[in-house]
Amino acid sequence: MITIIKNAKVFNGVELLEHTTIAIEDGKIVNKAEGDMVIDGNDCTLLPGLIDSHVHLYGVENLRETAKYGITTVLDMGVRNHVVIDDLRNCKGVSGILSSCLPAYAPNSGLAKKMKFPNSVIVQNAADSVRFVHEQINFNADYIKVIIEDEGKNGGVAFPADILEGIVNEAHKNGKRVVSHVVSPQTFELAINSGVDVLTHIPFIVALPQAVVDSMVKSACISVPTMVAMKAIVDNIEGLKSKFPFRLMKKFSKKLQAMPTFKYNYVEESVEKIRQAGIPILAGSDSNMGDKTTPFSVEYGSSLHEELKLLVKSGCTPIQALQSATSIPADYWKLSNRGRIALGYPADLLLVKGNPIENIEDTKNIKNVWIAGDLIH
Ligand SMILES: [Zn+2]
Repeated sequence: MITIIKNAKVFNGVELLEHTTIAIEDGKIVNKAEGDMVIDGNDCTLLPGLIDSHVHLYGVENLRETAKYGITTVLDMGVRNHVVIDDLRNCKGVSGILSSCLPAYAPNSGLAKKMKFPNSVIVQNAADSVRFVHEQINFNADYIKVIIEDEGKNGGVAFPADILEGIVNEAHKNGKRVVSHVVSPQTFELAINSGVDVLTHIPFIVALPQAVVDSMVKSACISVPTMVAMKAIVDNIEGLKSKFPFRLMKKFSKKLQAMPTFKYNYVEESVEKIRQAGIPILAGSDSNMGDKTTPFSVEYGSSLHEELKLLVKSGCTPIQALQSATSIPADYWKLSNRGRIALGYPADLLLVKGNPIENIEDTKNIKNVWIAGDLIH
């Protein structure tokens, strides 16, 4: 069976092509002009299936949800049990996955316990970093994830630099990249100095200093800002503060005054600095719906479309935002068969009404989604 999509504009992962006919046969994009099923894409734009470079997976229902939104690849950034990931690899008709398996935490991290991670995520010392990295590789991890927290915040403890370097060296020796959770400029610096490759999240209490951005450039780090998650945290915390009962204000005034102000403006400002510096940006949502141990909640699927909108609002062009969810992550993660519409590629496709290059929010007008040539939505 051959499916033809005609009259649609085509964003091929890199640029917009005017009205190119795309044919699907045996799950792949082929060069055919006639087919058994013809879809008229008039007033529509065809995109490669999108890539979400930061999610947390709990079950196949998450992948069904992301698939429905045209996200055909997701990168899991930390589970509590690797068996979850084993079960989700190679599920048919849903988003494909990559995963870090379990994330690394510093010795005595109160956060790991609070978030109900097993003890094996604690890396006790530099020598133990070898054990940790090889455990994840044996679980078939695609990359290594590290949680660098700020000292004293919600049970967070500073990550000793020698342990971090141990993890990075062992990961690199085994051909794995290291992704780090970082929120403050201090944790950014520690991660960069330790050789971490991917920095995920953005500060919301202060903008990222230019010196830190310059170090990212020098060390060839890339960014997964997860603006949608940062916005959810800021809205959540500032919302809670605004609802603080007036009658208790006096009693807690010192504590309230000591609390920093969370501002989404800092997130936008920092992402703009990163973009201006030419640092590659990957779109990621940090979807975690249903995880009660986190200070925010981000939905699967719809949130990546929101992330694209926020990237554009912070200064990216719509083309740059779309590239950050297609060809840029595909190239960075060496996914040779994803993130592009090209002959011979698997037909992971998203057809939307309108033109996201003119209005990024048009990615939300989903008409059809194909995964490996199968129409799933
Ligand atoms: Zn995350």
